[in-house]
Amino acid sequence: MKKCMKTMTAAALLFAAAFPASFASENGDQEMTFRRRREKMVKEQIKARGVDDPRVINAMLKVKRHLFVPEAVKGAAYSDRPLPIGYGQTISQPFIVGYMTQALDLDPADRVLEIGTGSGYQAAVLAELAGEVYSVEIIGELAEQARRTLERRGYDNVKVKYGDGYEGWKEHAPYDAVIVTAAPPQIPEELIRQLRTGGRMIVPAGRFYQELVFITKKAGGRVERKKLMPVRFVPMVRSGGR
Ligand code: SAH
Repeated sequence: MKKCMKTMTAAALLFAAAFPASFASENGDQEMTFRRRREKMVKEQIKARGVDDPRVINAMLKVKRHLFVPEAVKGAAYSDRPLPIGYGQTISQPFIVGYMTQALDLDPADRVLEIGTGSGYQAAVLAELAGEVYSVEIIGELAEQARRTLERRGYDNVKVKYGDGYEGWKEHAPYDAVIVTAAPPQIPEELIRQLRTGGRMIVPAGRFYQELVFITKKAGGRVERKKLMPVRFVPMVRSGGR
């Protein structure tokens, strides 16, 4: 018995040395708070507004949005709005992420192209639902940062490229789904080209007035468009200026 106690004490000490008690519990408390906020966000902002695909709901419950935003806005990570992520860009409002993701109706084997990696949050949500995600970002620093965040979170099915989204990412085309998270004045033809027949694409199109457009590519390259709702995204810029 005594020997057993001794062993336990040694083990406890070792543990304490590795994780100082105060730090461990503080971190645990914080994670708990964020988890509660995430559950509340999903219930009140996502489900209550009609995004109810259980796979999308699970993905949004799982991805820790607070780990994708800058430290300064971490406390607002689960609030009902877009947030600044630096370089004049924003991470979309959680509802928009859920809505666009649900619209794409992803299959676990799907290959998805995202334009506008930003923080990498949308890419992570997509990665929970699809097989492979390819994401293009025009701001080098954001691309690098998102790549690191995604790597740290273990998303090895996401690849991030620093480049111009108007060109898509030809090497991995055709895609089952394309999601554009910055607004081009017109729907970029090249992105439709990189969509497979039967593929789906969602894009906020327009310069001043923007509308979320859902596209299905039919046999023979015919394109079916459906307007979903008015939105407000940062502009999709052209490399070397607008
Ligand atoms: N999906 C992101 C939010 C996107 S904000 C997230 O989950 O955080 C829009 C992003 O599109 C910005 O990071 C912006 O730099 C990028 N962007 C704008 N024009 C682009 C272009 N032509 N090609 C690729 N990315 C572009």
